[in-house]
Amino acid sequence: MKFNNEATIRFKSKSVNEYFARNAIAAFIMQLNPTIEQMNDVKTAVSEAVTNCKVHAYDSEDDYIEIFCGIEGEKLHIKVSDSGKGIADIEKAMQPFYTTCPEDERSGMGFTVMETFMDSLHVENNTPKGTVVYMTKIFGNSGK
Ligand code: ATP
Ligand code: MG
Repeated sequence: MKFNNEATIRFKSKSVNEYFARNAIAAFIMQLNPTIEQMNDVKTAVSEAVTNCKVHAYDSEDDYIEIFCGIEGEKLHIKVSDSGKGIADIEKAMQPFYTTCPEDERSGMGFTVMETFMDSLHVENNTPKGTVVYMTKIFGNSGK
């Protein structure tokens, strides 16, 4: 795909980097002139995806999470990748209230939040291991 602009960040799976990631993406999408609501939607979706990598994919804080952002016209593409444990049944994992960590006060709503706040969500296995989350959001008059 041909992007008008793109950026990639790669950072360790430390809690403090969730703040870094959501604000880095926020800075990048300023060029799309987002409304406050659109900005908050993207930051929330990115937070959920990054938190999932940290909480579910990895046991240590020494592993890496990568976020790619691409702008194609008025459409923002975001790809969040980890090379951790992976998801055995993606369809099941994406259902509302499904969580493998109920004891950690997880509600199983992360993917549902991403789906609600973005215009599309797609989850795949990463190669050779891990998970990739693809999200898009349309800005401008045709978007939300
Ligand atoms: P919440 O997001 O509400 O705190 P949750 O993280 O369990 O709870 P989801 O974000 O919807 O809920 O994820 C559902 C399930 O999918 C998780 O419980 C986990 O088993 C699996 N999962 C999600 N992301 C990953 C990932 N990057 N690597 C491995 N497993 C994942
Ligand atoms: Mg989650």
